[in-house]
Amino acid sequence: MSSTLRFQVVGEAFKKKPVNVPNREDRPSEFFAKYVFNRQKMQQYLPEDVYQRMTDVIDHGCKLDLQTADLVAEGMKRWAMELGVTHCTHWFQPLTEGTAEKHDGFVEHDGKGGMIEEFTGKQLVQQEPDASSFPSGGIRSTFEARGYSAWDPASPVFVMGDTLLIPTIFISYTGEALDYKAPLKKALQAVDKAATDVARYFYGDVTKVISNLGWEQEYFLVDEDLYAARPDLLMTGRTLMGHDSAKNQQMDDHYFGSIPRRVAAFMKDLEIQALELGIPCKTRHNEVAPNQFELAPIFEETNLAVDHNMLLMSLMKKVARTHGFRCLLHEKPFKGVNGSGKHCNWSLATDTGVLLHAPGKNLIENLRFITFIVETLMAVYRHNGLLKGSIISATNAHRLGAHEAPPAIISSFLGKQLTDLLNALEQSNEGYLRDLKGKKALTLDIPQIPELLLDNTDRNRTSPFAFTGNRFEFRAVGSSANCAAAMIVLNAAVAEALVDFKKRVDSKIAEISGNPEFSTGEHNPVFHAIIEILRDDIKTCQPIHFEGNGYSDEWKEEAKRRGLDVETSAPLMFRQYLSPTSVEMFQKTSVMTEAELKARTEIKWETYTKKIQIEARIFGDMCLNHIIPVATRYQSQLIDNVHKLLEIFPREEAMQMNQNNLTLIRRISEHTSFITEHVTQLINERRKANRIAEVFERAIAYHDNVAPLIEEIRYHVDKLELIVDDELWPLPKYREILFIR
Ligand code: ADP
Ligand code: MG
Repeated sequence: MSSTLRFQVVGEAFKKKPVNVPNREDRPSEFFAKYVFNRQKMQQYLPEDVYQRMTDVIDHGCKLDLQTADLVAEGMKRWAMELGVTHCTHWFQPLTEGTAEKHDGFVEHDGKGGMIEEFTGKQLVQQEPDASSFPSGGIRSTFEARGYSAWDPASPVFVMGDTLLIPTIFISYTGEALDYKAPLKKALQAVDKAATDVARYFYGDVTKVISNLGWEQEYFLVDEDLYAARPDLLMTGRTLMGHDSAKNQQMDDHYFGSIPRRVAAFMKDLEIQALELGIPCKTRHNEVAPNQFELAPIFEETNLAVDHNMLLMSLMKKVARTHGFRCLLHEKPFKGVNGSGKHCNWSLATDTGVLLHAPGKNLIENLRFITFIVETLMAVYRHNGLLKGSIISATNAHRLGAHEAPPAIISSFLGKQLTDLLNALEQSNEGYLRDLKGKKALTLDIPQIPELLLDNTDRNRTSPFAFTGNRFEFRAVGSSANCAAAMIVLNAAVAEALVDFKKRVDSKIAEISGNPEFSTGEHNPVFHAIIEILRDDIKTCQPIHFEGNGYSDEWKEEAKRRGLDVETSAPLMFRQYLSPTSVEMFQKTSVMTEAELKARTEIKWETYTKKIQIEARIFGDMCLNHIIPVATRYQSQLIDNVHKLLEIFPREEAMQMNQNNLTLIRRISEHTSFITEHVTQLINERRKANRIAEVFERAIAYHDNVAPLIEEIRYHVDKLELIVDDELWPLPKYREILFIR
C-alpha cells in the first residue's frame, strides 16, 4: 500500500459523519420489546386457553403438546406477518462462537398450483439442521449428520428484519447436547431444585429458585476504514503487531470521560434497537482504554440473559457498521492497553421475591444469607480449576493473568464485614452452645448484619469472584465468550454444594432431634444443625477466600500453598472438564455426561489450535509481505543517501555525516533478519504441530511452540515501526486506530 493511500484511508475515517440516529420521540417504555412475542403479545394473539397453557409451560416447565404448538404458531404467524415477516429460523448457540440460523420461508403449496403462507407447530417446535458443519467433538459421526433444534419456550421468539427467530437448544440425533443452551437449562434446573430445598428451611412457601445474571459487555470501536487496512484485525479480531501509542490510557482520561459524538450516536442507535428486541439496556459508559466502552442491561433470569447477550453481540457488530465503525469483541485487540471482559453478576432469588444472596433484617434472613454465601464459596472452592477452565480461551488467555484483568487464579473477595461475620460464626462454637441454653443464642451468634453491607463499596478490583453487596461478580469471563459456559459450571457447582449441604444438615437434624434441648422455638433443631454445618464449611472453603492483591507474585505462591489451581496454559486448563471431581459433579447434577464433556473438551482444544494457527499464518504473511518489503525499501533509501553524500562531500566528512544512516541501516538489517529467520521457524513449528494427530497434544504444541514465537517476532516488527519512515509504514498505527475523532 502506498503512503498516500494510507493517509487517504486515515483521512476518510476522520471525515466520516455520524449517520442519522432514529430520532425517537417515544419513550423506551413504549417501544420496549416491540419485536418480541412476549406475554403481552401472547395474550393478544392467542386464544385464552392456549395462553394459559403457554404460561404453564413457561413458568412450570409443563410439556407442550403439538396441538397447542399449532395454535401458538398460528398466533405467532399472525403477529409476525403484521410486521412484514416472511421467514422463520431456529436460532441456536453451537459450540463455535456466536449463534447459528437456518431460514425457511413461510410458504407451502396450496395443492392447487399456488402458494399459501404457512407456519406450523411442528416448524416452531423442532427443526433438523444439518449438524455436520458444526463442531461436535466426535459425538456425531459424519455419517449421522442429523441434529435437532428444539424450541425453548422460556426464551420468547423475536423478529429481526423479515425473519422470525426462535430460540432453540441444539442436540444430536442421539440426544447429546451440541450447544451451550441445553446444558445451561439443565444446570438451571439443578440449582432451582437444590436451592428450593435449602430455601425451604427458612421459608415454607418457596416453590422455585431463579438464577439471575446481569452481564456487563465491554467492547472496542474502531473506524471501519482503518480496520479494513489491518489484515490482522480483519482475520483474527486483534492486532498482531503495532507499537504502543505515545499516549494511550496513562492519563486515565477515557473512563467516564465524555463520549465522542459519533460513538454516542452509535450507542443510542444500538440501545433503541436492543430495547425493541426486549434487552433491558441500562448503563453505558467509556471504559479504561481509549475507544473502549461498556453496555450493561438490568439483570434477568440467566437463560434469558444469556440469549440477550448473544443477541446483543451480533446486534453491536451490525449497528457499528452502519455508523462506519467495527465493533471488536476480542478480549485483547491491542497490546499495552486494557482488554475487554464481560463481568457476570450472579445471584439466586426465590419465586417469592427473596434475593438469597442479599443480607436481611432478622435472624432467619441472615442465616439464610450466610447459608447461600458459604455454599456458593464451597462450590467455587471445590471447582475453582473448572471455573477457570470455563472462561479460558485462546483469546481470553491474553487478558487473564495480565496486570489489568482478573488473575489466572480463582479466589473470592468478601469485604471486611462479611469476613468478620463468617469468622465470628466459625469461631463461636462454645459460646453458641452455652447461649443456646440461655435462649439468646441465635441472636448472639448471628449478629445483625449492618445495613451498610448492602451498600458495600469496599471493592477489590483484582478479585475474579467478588461479593458485591447482594450478588457475586464473576469477572474473569471474556468479552467475546458465550457466558453460558461460565453459568453452566457455576450453577451446577452451586447445585451440587447445596444438595450436599442439605444432606448433611438433614442427618444432623436426625441426630439431634431426639435431644429435648433442641425441640422447638428458639431451640429449633433445624437452625442448630445449619449453624453446625456452616461452621464446618466456613473452615473447609477458607482457601478460596482472599482479600489481598490478586495481581501480586506473593499471591501466586500463597495460592499454590492453598492448593488452588494456578495453571496458566489454556490447553491444560481445558482438561479440568475431565477431572474426576468435575465429571462427578456434572453427572450428579445431570447436567452433562462424560461423553458430552469429552466432546466439549475436544472442541475447545480444536478451536484453540485453529485460532493460533490462523494468527500464525496471518502474522507470517504480514511479516514477509508487508513489513520486510517496506523496511527494506526504507533501508535502500538510506543506502542511497549514504552514496549520494559520498558523491558530494569529501569521504571523511561524508562518512561522519553518514553515521546515523549507517546505524539505522544496520538496525533494520538486524530486525529484518531476525524476523525472516524466525518466520521460517514459525512455519516449521506450525508444520510440526499440524502433524500431531492427537487434539490435546496438538493444542499443547501450538501453545508451547507456536504462540510464543509470534510474540518474540512481534517485538522486532514493533521496533521497525519506530524506525521506518511513517509515510511508508503499511499499517494504520495504534495512535491512528485508538482515537476516534
Ligand atoms: P458495576 O458497578 O460493576 O459496573 P452495575 O451497577 O453497573 O455494576 O451493575 C452491573 C450488573 O449487575 C447490572 O446488569 C445489574 O443489573 C446487575 N445486578 C444488580 N443486582 C444483581 C443481582 N442481585 N443479581 C444479579 N445481577 C445483579
Ligand atoms: Mg461490574
